Amino acid sequence: MQKDTYKHQGLRRQLVDEIMEMGIKNEQVLNAILTIPRHFFMDSAFSQHAYQNKAFSIGEGQTISQPYTVAYQTQLLNLEENKEKDTIKILEIGTGSGYQTAILAEICKNKSAQITSIEFHQNLYLKAKQTLENISKYSDNFDFQSIGLVCGDGSKGYFKNALYDKILVTAATPNSIQSFKEWFEQLNIGGQIIVPVGNRKNQIMCRYTKKDEKTIQQETFEGFRFVPLLGERGF
Ligand code: SAH
Repeated sequence: MQKDTYKHQGLRRQLVDEIMEMGIKNEQVLNAILTIPRHFFMDSAFSQHAYQNKAFSIGEGQTISQPYTVAYQTQLLNLEENKEKDTIKILEIGTGSGYQTAILAEICKNKSAQITSIEFHQNLYLKAKQTLENISKYSDNFDFQSIGLVCGDGSKGYFKNALYDKILVTAATPNSIQSFKEWFEQLNIGGQIIVPVGNRKNQIMCRYTKKDEKTIQQETFEGFRFVPLLGERGF
């Protein structure tokens, strides 16, 4: 197990400053980036680069997302809304390293949250599970009990734990209604999906809000580049 040193903590502070300069304002998101040791989610060979604002390979042709991207998607989730509601159910599609999942758990630690994260590749699923367990053992500061990891195809969501208040997709999603059918069905009224939509190369970050059973409102944001969504509804 790697250690979380003062040097790492200092580098995280610099990373947070960089992300703030790029326009991320949400305090909860910035605090979570400051708290969660990103280097624990990466191969030790890359750990000295963990606090650069870059994506890195995690095996299986996949990447741990750039910290700015993680912060951007998390900010769009509006996790601080619904204060009167005491539970929140989140589905993340694309666990990868588990870093984004840990950020969600950190932000939701003071409320009753159920975070389901689904990963297509078994190797990555097993590795993320191990990483989150190791970090929980490393320090009592980290509480990942709200997280449930699943290995499977999230392109059709994860029906078993639905309905969700938020669905966060961390892979590029094709712009066809087919990809969204099950996700919309698995969303509560008022619930939201944050998803990069486009082709394999370029996507636009979108936020969909389910107004009622038949009405979905779409908002569009910046352009990004994610690895493609796999599985039945993927590329
Ligand atoms: N959130 C991750 C980013 C991972 S990159 C992190 O912070 O590290 C996208 C991930 O989505 C990859 O691990 C990929 O294997 C996974 N993925 C792609 N298609 C999927 C699908 N249909 N179901 C579940 N996971 C999928």
